[in-house]
Amino acid sequence: LFGNNHPIHIEIGMGKGQFLLTLAKKYPTINYIGIERYSSVLLRALEKLDSEEYEGLTNIRFICMDAADIADVFAPGEVSRIYLNFSDPWPKARHARRRLTSLDFFARYDKILTSDGTVEFKTDNRGLFDFSLEQLEECPSFATQKYTFDLHHEPDMNEGNILTEYEEKFSSLGNPICKLIAVRRA
Ligand code: SAM
Repeated sequence: LFGNNHPIHIEIGMGKGQFLLTLAKKYPTINYIGIERYSSVLLRALEKLDSEEYEGLTNIRFICMDAADIADVFAPGEVSRIYLNFSDPWPKARHARRRLTSLDFFARYDKILTSDGTVEFKTDNRGLFDFSLEQLEECPSFATQKYTFDLHHEPDMNEGNILTEYEEKFSSLGNPICKLIAVRRA
């Protein structure tokens, strides 16, 4: 599709696409794919891509789909990085398996990520973040490499950080932003 063999990075639940479009412009030798369930939201990303600001950008595509089917769309080992930004919290316990950082989803990521692939997750929702750290403790295929409860005041992890739409909104309200990076277990 991209006509080259550059690494593929994807964002699941990309919303209006600000984060991924910014990355695509900054890193032309990475191919980016944004995944969003709602076409009405994805349309906003397409409109941005059509604008002058992103004119000529060839290293980004979007897919309108539910991420539950992600292993049917990507080949084994095809993706080098998965970004999850401000994922829906699904607060009810009976919906826990729908959270994008549940063990069920990590099993899907296991199928499509390269052997050195990573999952990077940001949120201001401390409950969802704690759940994600706990899931990674139990996860057979991935483990937490590093994490912070206050990304914007952690110079190491914050270096080169690209703000998402939700990150702009919630950090301007004073909410600390949590981030974790998960890597494959040795
Ligand atoms: N990542 C953006 C940001 O940080 O500004 C948007 C965050 S918004 C809270 C979460 C987005 O993820 C929504 O647009 C929602 O439709 C999408 N989403 C949630 N679950 C999804 C799934 N299973 N598959 C695809 N998209 C999903």
